[in-house]
Amino acid sequence: MSDETARFDPQEERTIREQYARGTAAVCPRDGTTMTVRSIGGGSFGLGYARKREWLICPTCKRSVIFDVKRGTRN
Ligand SMILES: [Zn+2]
Repeated sequence: MSDETARFDPQEERTIREQYARGTAAVCPRDGTTMTVRSIGGGSFGLGYARKREWLICPTCKRSVIFDVKRGTRN
């Protein structure tokens, strides 16, 4: 077991991103726990654009994934 590393597989990360992008609560693919979302301020407002990042954390297995949120772009 290598649960200490607390990382998702790329496939699992993708599932989480898709859930989040759909606007539904992201659920941990490992244990089905609803993941906690934290926003991380990435940029400074003075520059006129702020890159927003989301940090999704599973409170059960402590795995987390960070990804950039591109605002105004949907595809
Ligand atoms: Zn989990």
